Amino acid sequence: HVLRCTWENIAPVPQKPFITYILDRCAQAGDIDALVDGVSGERLKYSQLTTWVRDVSYGWQAAGLEAGQVVCLVTPNCILALPTFLAAVAAKGIVTFANPLSTPDELRRHVTHSNSSWIVVHPLFLKNVQAAIKDNKNIKGINILGDKATDDIKPVTSLRQEAPAEWACTGGSGDQVLHLPYSSGTTGLPKGVEITAGNWLAMLSNIGRKEYLNINSEEVILGILPFFHIFGIGMGLASLCYGATMVTLPRFIPDIFLKALQTYKVTLVPVVPPLAIFLAKHEVVAKFDLSAMKSIVCGAAPLSGDVQEILSKKFPEVTVRQGFGMTETTLAVFASESHEPGAVGHITAHSEAKGYFNDVKATSELIDSKGWLHTGDVGHFNDSGIFYIVDRIKELIKYKGFQVAPAELEGLLVTHESIADAAVIGVVDEEAGELPKAYIVQKPGKIVDSEDIIAWVKERVAPFKRLRGGVEIIDAIPRSPAGKILRKNLRQQPSGA
Ligand code: AMP
Repeated sequence: HVLRCTWENIAPVPQKPFITYILDRCAQAGDIDALVDGVSGERLKYSQLTTWVRDVSYGWQAAGLEAGQVVCLVTPNCILALPTFLAAVAAKGIVTFANPLSTPDELRRHVTHSNSSWIVVHPLFLKNVQAAIKDNKNIKGINILGDKATDDIKPVTSLRQEAPAEWACTGGSGDQVLHLPYSSGTTGLPKGVEITAGNWLAMLSNIGRKEYLNINSEEVILGILPFFHIFGIGMGLASLCYGATMVTLPRFIPDIFLKALQTYKVTLVPVVPPLAIFLAKHEVVAKFDLSAMKSIVCGAAPLSGDVQEILSKKFPEVTVRQGFGMTETTLAVFASESHEPGAVGHITAHSEAKGYFNDVKATSELIDSKGWLHTGDVGHFNDSGIFYIVDRIKELIKYKGFQVAPAELEGLLVTHESIADAAVIGVVDEEAGELPKAYIVQKPGKIVDSEDIIAWVKERVAPFKRLRGGVEIIDAIPRSPAGKILRKNLRQQPSGA
């Protein structure tokens, strides 16, 4: 049974370059604030943003950025991140965001795997990036994200050159790849997901409608979900496309988060389940005036129907909805219009998937011969076509909505001098969703201590990948005859998830 979108008047996919589409829409918003720094209050109006994007992209091309080259952005959310994304795409580049909290080794893999030639890095993360790109001959330029030079590295704004009026900004058309977010998908290590201009145009042309996110230019949207994740960047691009104001926050600190919602009269709050739980259950929330809030939209991991109901009762004026999607589908393929607890809603308008960067095998495993993409989740729908996601059968672990690829931690663990074999699964946790837990087999004659392994891993991975679910030493990792880890058997262990 095939479900199709039943909305009336679905906007066709715009047949123009991505950058023309988005900058034309930004130009219409004129003097409205496009972006506000939720900590410092610094603002960027739409009129300033469009000129900035044109001038930086013009200068970037002059500095040598060529069509199809990859630009890696390493930054927490801040007001220049989205304009830099747009400038790189306008110059016909492809953008990949790396998690700024990555270790130098993780960054090195991201930069080399994505074949990045240009780096734009927030000053706080410069040292790690410099360590990661040492000896990388592919790097053509590195800039600081911001206005000020750091350690002799020029800021991205220094790339600005006044673009002549006749200069056409035409980056990203049709099936050209313009964005390379990383996702491990259903199995294995993180891969670069090739998102095309058409993918984003299809998504953005319908995302603001009432059945979906219901965005207009009066909306103030919180930009706390990281731009390196599809949900974060999708909300940022949607905000720009519909002339709304996005208030960026670099990380979650309860007081600053709530103060930003109050000060900037935020109307739309995109969250992952732990943030939804915080809003539902934490008593400090009552101390702030959140009366401007009209909707909360939750995605990236399952939100329990209970939490959704608590939220709806606590904020009766607010619509609490879920969306379901994955990086590979360019954001949400299901979106709910109403409070329906636990449901991810109806199927959304057209989106397409193109596959993985330099990885034909992983692509063919994800998309079958009939063109269906297998997400690795289990769901069902009712007579009204409302969808419910009930389980995840792929190996991916989601810690607070962040992707943790078991294969990555397993690969790291077996480099430890005392570990012969390892398997990592997610154990259920009410607040975080899941916590990564490792099962390890000791090498003959070696004795390892679980706490030591937890500390050893902590030193080598970004914070969200730590083994918060613990380490258990076992005699053998259960494997299929083909050598595949039987994760279900681990989960069924008395001490498992
Ligand atoms: P990502 O590419 O990081 O967005 O991960 C996609 C995966 O996140 C999906 O395949 C699901 O396993 C999970 N996911 C995303 N949204 C939801 C949701 N609303 N309910 C349940 N699982 C979700």
